[in-house]
Amino acid sequence: MNAVTTALQAIEFRVHDASTRIFVKRPGDKHEEQLVDLISGECSCEHYQFRIAPHHERGRARPEQGNQCIHIALAREWFLEKMLDALEKAHGKG
Ligand SMILES: [Zn+2]
Repeated sequence: MNAVTTALQAIEFRVHDASTRIFVKRPGDKHEEQLVDLISGECSCEHYQFRIAPHHERGRARPEQGNQCIHIALAREWFLEKMLDALEKAHGKG
């Protein structure tokens, strides 16, 4: 088991109203779960809203190092794992 898998297992992910809108709850978070929108690259957390979003007002920015919060990074990792699992099953290896 690699480090990413171990880290993801401690976190709760819950799909919201679309498969790309995901609630993320970290064990150590003071606040309740945060909502990440993978398409728009936005998160409901204060760090994103106050520190990151003001720099992205001209539209959707591709989440990369420095312009995404931990929730977006985790949600993208989780989503990728889910998609890869689905592809693996579709190819008959699951
Ligand atoms: Zn966030």
